[in-house]
Amino acid sequence: MFGTGLLKGLGVTLKHALDTFEDDRESVPDRYKGSLELGNNRRIIQQPIDQEGLLTIQYPEEKRLLPERFRYIPMLIWDSEKHEDRCTACGICAKVCPPQCIWIVRDSDENGKPVTRCSEFYIDAAVCMSCSFCVEFCPFDAIKMNHDYELAVYDRNPQLVYDMEELTVPLEYYAALWPTQYEEEQARRKEEEEQKRKQEEEKAAKAAARAAAKSAAAADESATAAKPKRSAAELQALAKERAAQRQAQAADGGSSDDDAATAKRARMEELKRKAQERARQRKLDAGE
Ligand code: SF4
Ligand code: SF4
Repeated sequence: MFGTGLLKGLGVTLKHALDTFEDDRESVPDRYKGSLELGNNRRIIQQPIDQEGLLTIQYPEEKRLLPERFRYIPMLIWDSEKHEDRCTACGICAKVCPPQCIWIVRDSDENGKPVTRCSEFYIDAAVCMSCSFCVEFCPFDAIKMNHDYELAVYDRNPQLVYDMEELTVPLEYYAALWPTQYEEEQARRKEEEEQKRKQEEEKAAKAAARAAAKSAAAADESATAAKPKRSAAELQALAKERAAQRQAQAADGGSSDDDAATAKRARMEELKRKAQERARQRKLDAGE
C-alpha cells in the first residue's frame, strides 16, 4: 500500500524516541554506562552494538571509543626501554607507500658515513590514504598507525606535513592504543631474542672448543720441537750399534738356513731309501 514504508520508518523513529526518553529517566543512561569521563561534559563512549534508544553521539563533547585496529596517520615509535628511535632509516616504508607521501633523510656520523637513523622524516598527511602499507612492511616495528583523527587546519601546506618531532610518540602510547598487537609483538620479540641468545651461546661454545683444540695442537708441536737433538758423536755411535745388530741378525739367519737345508736333505734320503725297500719287497712277493 502506498506510504507503508514511510509509516514503518516513522514507527522506528518513534520507538527510538521512546527508548531514549525511558533511558534518560535513569540516573545513568545506558549509553553512558562504561564510558570514560573526561570532565567538562566530555566523555568517550563505548557504544554497544545492541544499544536501545539514542544512537547519536554529541561530538565533539562525546566521542566513540575507537576500536584497536582503527587507523589514521602513521606515527614513529620512540623505544623508551632502549632510549632510541626504532626507525633505522632503511627507507622501505617510503618505497612501498602508494601515494609516495613519506620523505626520509638518513643521518651520518662526523666522518660523513651514513648511519642507521634518520635526521629527517616527513609524512604529508594531506596525501596519506591510511592504507597502513608502511606499517606492514617496516621490519623494525618502528612505524604504527595513530588513532588521532582531529587534524583540521587552515593551511594544508606546511601544517599537514608532519616532521619527525610531530610524528614521534613513546612506546607506552602505542601500547595503550594497540594493546593486543603490542602484546603479540612483545612475545615475538622475546622469542626472537631468546633464539638469538641461544645461537650466540652455541657459537661461543664452538669457538671455545676450536680454540682449545688449537692450543692443544700448539702445545704438542712445541713439545716435539723442545725434544733435545742428538750430537754427531751420538748419532755415529747409534749407527754403529744398529749395523752390529743387523750383522748379528744376518749371521743368525744364515746358520738357521743351513740347518734347515741339511734336515731337508736327510729326510729326502730317508724317503728314497724307504721307497727302494718297498720296491724290493714287491719283487720278492711276486717271486721274481
Ligand atoms: S619506519 Fe621502518 S620501514 Fe620506514 S625507514 Fe624507518 S625502519 Fe625503515
Ligand atoms: S599509511 Fe599508506 S599512504 Fe599513509 S604513509 Fe603509510 S603507506 Fe603511505
